[in-house]
Amino acid sequence: MAHEYDLVILGGGTGGYVAAIRASQLGLKTAIVEKDLLGGTCLHRGCIPSKALLRSAEVYRQTINAKNFGIETSEAKLNFATVQNRKSSIVEQLHNGVKTLIKKGKIDVYPGTGRILGPSIFSPMPGTISVEMPGQENEMLLPKNVIIATGSKPRDVNGINVDGQTVLSSDHALQLEALPSSIIIVGGGVIGIEWASMLTDFGVKVTVLEYGNRILPSEDEEISSEMEKHLIKRGVEIIKNAEILSDSLEIQDGIKIAANVKGDNQSFSAEKLLLAVGRIGNIDGIGLDNTEIECEANFIKVNEVYQTKEKHIYAIGDVIGGMQLAHIASHEGIAAVEHIANGEKKSINYANVARCIYSYPEAASIGVTEAQATEKGFNIKAGKFPFKGIGKALIYGDSEGFVKIIADQETNDLLGVHMIGPHVTDLISEAALGMLLDATAWEIGETIHPHPSLSEIMGEAALAVEGRAIHF
Ligand SMILES: Cc1cc2nc3c(=O)[nH]c(=O)nc-3n(C[C@H](O)[C@H](O)[C@H](O)COP(=O)(O)OP(=O)(O)OC[C@H]3O[C@@H](n4cnc5c(N)ncnc54)[C@H](O)[C@@H]3O)c2cc1C
Repeated sequence: MAHEYDLVILGGGTGGYVAAIRASQLGLKTAIVEKDLLGGTCLHRGCIPSKALLRSAEVYRQTINAKNFGIETSEAKLNFATVQNRKSSIVEQLHNGVKTLIKKGKIDVYPGTGRILGPSIFSPMPGTISVEMPGQENEMLLPKNVIIATGSKPRDVNGINVDGQTVLSSDHALQLEALPSSIIIVGGGVIGIEWASMLTDFGVKVTVLEYGNRILPSEDEEISSEMEKHLIKRGVEIIKNAEILSDSLEIQDGIKIAANVKGDNQSFSAEKLLLAVGRIGNIDGIGLDNTEIECEANFIKVNEVYQTKEKHIYAIGDVIGGMQLAHIASHEGIAAVEHIANGEKKSINYANVARCIYSYPEAASIGVTEAQATEKGFNIKAGKFPFKGIGKALIYGDSEGFVKIIADQETNDLLGVHMIGPHVTDLISEAALGMLLDATAWEIGETIHPHPSLSEIMGEAALAVEGRAIHF
């Protein structure tokens, strides 16, 4: 028997389940098809478990440094099994929360692998969903609309076979039962740098091999170099311009790999290797060949309201590429559902979306970098303020880093805000609100920030744009 729906969502990750909740609020009869666990990558293999591990790494580092605060402890000891258990219980608690929300929204969940069928006896248009469920008969779903939210998976590198034992993706690394003594991380992007920071705090010897000429290549150059400085100070080896030589990987009592570093072939060895070179859309096996849907470089192409070439089939989240962030996936899901329900065009202004890196130190940014602003032809002015001029940062015991604000010389509008230092992944929200409300640097500078607080740095950096910073 075929089941009829207003909307079927393929994939119950952050994008998919948030879209389903919004659809149920708008009165659409909705189903999710999920082949693994509701919550997807972010909850089970991404944002949440990685930040839980990073928090344990932070507590360990702070315990070691507690004597600087006048607290004497006996030697800090790491119990990695407890670290992993804590992570798992946070994930489990949130997973139960998502399941409750889905139940409350009366959203049907089909636990199986979904595939889009072409025109058939069920419908003259592609879009019927066949759900394969282990040990059960296939279910047929007949939706008026479909949202593809199948997410992404780690990108491979030719010649590096991820075996899950010695050569890991971030999915495997999250499940480690014991820490290796040393690790090579291939890729100095966000995921690679978060792992480098966490593992070095846990006492693992870390080497980062980055293909480009700087780590965090999509961030402002000053953020990249400040992050590099901090990681090196904490013992991380960072090799830039490192092009892995294909088929050079040897696995025997650990791994050995060679890279061409500026014309010089060098060999690197460690107990394990983590491959963190980006992610590609989950587009295989979901029936796209039964439709007119177009893809580009492993991602589904959509218009400004997330419709594919088949107007009743939408796609959102990591599977359409772009910034590949959980908060983007969920907002794209809401925008797609509101277009389905009432034709509302609610496309996202990606320039107003904050990007965060939860390493130590944290980094966060929004809008364009200084180089991008100049490339776009803006006549810019910039203000920068260091955390060492902020009393609360000294009290907190963490006063490295800075906030840099880039504004338009003519209009004074904010173009980009770049931060590195304590709690910047929270502080960036003020900049996000400022961007949404079209605030000028002057308005941020005139905002009275509480004293002492880390947030004072936003006011000071904004005043610095006009050469008026008070405490530096
Ligand atoms: C290590 C790591 C750390 C990260 N940290 C952050 C962070 O701190 N902040 C942040 O914003 N983002 C972070 N991300 C990115 C974030 O996880 C993704 O952007 C987000 O999960 C994308 O949501 P999505 O719904 O598009 O896809 P996903 O969350 O990947 O969900 C897709 C779902 O679809 C299911 N699926 C796939 N194919 C089918 C099928 N044929 N049938 C049925 N179900 C199917 C999958 O099982 C999965 O559950 C991180 C990612 C990683 C890997």
